[in-house]
Amino acid sequence: MADLTTSIILIEQGFALDGPHRAALAANGSPVIACPTLDDAIARLAVVQPRVVVLCALPSSDLPEQLMTLLAARTSPARAIWLTRRAQTRDALRALRLGFCDYHTCSEPAEALNAAVQRALELLANNTHDATADHEMLVSLVSHEIRNPLMTINGYLELLKKYRGRLPEEKMSDYLDRSLMAMDEVTYLADLLAETVRMDAGHELPATEPVVLAELVEGCLTQCARLAQRHTLAADVPRTLQVQAEPMALRQIIRNLVINAIKYSPEGGTITIRATKSTEHMVVVEVQDEGIGIAPEQLPRLFARFARVHDVRRWPGIRGTGLGLYLCRHLVEAQGGRIWVNSTPGLGSVFAFTVPLARRAARLIAVNRSPARSAS
Ligand code: ADP
Repeated sequence: MADLTTSIILIEQGFALDGPHRAALAANGSPVIACPTLDDAIARLAVVQPRVVVLCALPSSDLPEQLMTLLAARTSPARAIWLTRRAQTRDALRALRLGFCDYHTCSEPAEALNAAVQRALELLANNTHDATADHEMLVSLVSHEIRNPLMTINGYLELLKKYRGRLPEEKMSDYLDRSLMAMDEVTYLADLLAETVRMDAGHELPATEPVVLAELVEGCLTQCARLAQRHTLAADVPRTLQVQAEPMALRQIIRNLVINAIKYSPEGGTITIRATKSTEHMVVVEVQDEGIGIAPEQLPRLFARFARVHDVRRWPGIRGTGLGLYLCRHLVEAQGGRIWVNSTPGLGSVFAFTVPLARRAARLIAVNRSPARSAS
């Protein structure tokens, strides 16, 4: 009898696999269990623990999302490969972001599918992820995302050049504002990429120091103000609150959360940053928005690398890399805190994190760092 713990499940809901590709799957030596639909595969998964799942799905379907949600809820690990008819960069990114270990088209030679299954089995045996694919994903995602604001800047500069001296003052200032907003997006993406690369390389954060939280929050809000065209930004942070943090990292955490609050409130609304002492040693910082919220079943994967939990087809205007919250979690934990979220779909979200209270007053550190002192 076939060893069901080493099987490959083939789901042919989008289209049926041709002969050569079917033979390539079988060439791996593992029994292939073919299922005509995802529902059929779900019934099989109750008794079978496959190591690889190959999904034949067309780009327009939700099958990739459904399959990966299903596999994430299982205790026995399996790697998934998405096979489609026509390659599209957007779907390759979608596949990697969803956690597929590979993305192939039927027009590629059947051996490529065989090799993909072999690689998936090796990754599973070594319990590792594919570092090269991850690196490629990082570079393609950021370069893909950075292109949009750059095109915006280019477009407005072209207009300003073409109509130089003939544009009404307010039009010109509108074009300049929009270009500056796009510049903010580019800076945000560049910072995100730089911080992720630093983190991947295993660099530790510089030493923490006492920080006056209200001042840092004010700086973040000023930095984000241009992007918050339809929003009201508010802060409720006591001036006396001082935290023990690495200022650049803390700024990046708050900025990422505020930028998300802006992005995921397309209708506008108020965004509030609040901070209170939660225990004798900790401060809790909250960023609250009145945006689209997050479905409860999506909350567990929110802080994973590359995770984006809203359907891009429903919210085509909201762009992102799925790196912001992943980085936030890393930076919060590196400073001894934790991060979480409460959210109600349609009403908004509150992202909260903790950071230790300052061990000494911020002013003392500032004196120690004065130029006269460091020169000595
Ligand atoms: P992205 O670049 O996609 O915004 P993040 O890592 O910052 O990546 O966020 C991951 C996902 O979490 C987002 O794609 C979005 O689906 C969801 N998300 C983050 N912040 C919010 C928020 N304030 N409201 C609703 N959804 C959010």
